[in-house]
Amino acid sequence: MSELPAIDSNYLLDILVDLLNTPSPTGKADAAINLVENAVQEFPFLSSKQTRKGAFVSTWEGLANDTPRGLTAHADTLGAMVKEIKTNGRLKLTRIGGFAWNTVEGEGCTIFTSQGETLRGSILLTKASGHVHGSKVNELKRDDDNMEVRLDARTIDADQTRELGIQVGDFVAFDPRVEMVNGFIRSRHLDDKACVACILAAIKALDTAGKKPAQTTTFHFSNYEEVGHGAATGFPDDLAELLTVDMAAIGEGQTSDEFHATLCVKDSGGPYHHGLNQELRKLADQYQIPYKVDIYPYYGSDGEALWRAGGDVAVALIGPGVDASHNYERTHTDALIATTQWIMAYLLN
Ligand SMILES: [Zn+2]
Repeated sequence: MSELPAIDSNYLLDILVDLLNTPSPTGKADAAINLVENAVQEFPFLSSKQTRKGAFVSTWEGLANDTPRGLTAHADTLGAMVKEIKTNGRLKLTRIGGFAWNTVEGEGCTIFTSQGETLRGSILLTKASGHVHGSKVNELKRDDDNMEVRLDARTIDADQTRELGIQVGDFVAFDPRVEMVNGFIRSRHLDDKACVACILAAIKALDTAGKKPAQTTTFHFSNYEEVGHGAATGFPDDLAELLTVDMAAIGEGQTSDEFHATLCVKDSGGPYHHGLNQELRKLADQYQIPYKVDIYPYYGSDGEALWRAGGDVAVALIGPGVDASHNYERTHTDALIATTQWIMAYLLN
């Protein structure tokens, strides 16, 4: 068995919690992208820039440059925008990314006005009170029309809400509610902030051990993944391989769990690159990295975004098992460590 550099798990978890507590719905992910940019200052050997689209891209010169590689993880998350200011002063929302309304029902949220102010509120059913609406609370379909934001501000009509500075198009972020217990990390948006933290922890571990990647590698921190086109651009023209790092989907019929990293061999976009998959399996075996192989039935990745944009590269997907994805998610430190190890094994070989 070959040895991998030691991972600073405190660093990994600290940066993960910072990321989770930084609101970054797709379209307004700059705060999380800036946090990554700040973290990368610690690694002066990377040459970095923000793309015009707003992703953050860092390149680490490798020992060789004949098959340049990319790694991508996304810093944007699910969220919403104000669709309409209702006559009762509350807000109708439009969703950003794919999730069911019931997964955020009762959740606290922050509204970001175009003037740079923030307001607090919560996402509720329009017929929320059991004492007023009886069985309708259970029966009402959770859809765009039946969900609203109740603002924590004095307003009972649309004009008063507009006076608070709120307009159609304002971004809304859901409270992540981060909690760490017994090695578990419970939070919204582990997808995909967990993997952003894993990539940064892998870079730090390799650097601390005095190692360099085998091939020149571009780290791409995407800001538009949840709507399907994040990593469609932002890589060098000669890129040969892209390792997408994104969460694994756990549930009935799935092999993935919260204690392993998963190699996804197929999702909604079809099979990933078999040759690169085989390389990744070989590395996991060689370094005794705890992993599963799985298929995700309703899932698309930023690797496929690059393929759809015409990228002539081998693409694979690995990531930590995340329970209740696009809901109130949870993973375990073991899965984060396994994912970080796999990233390092790939970079070194
Ligand atoms: Zn994701």
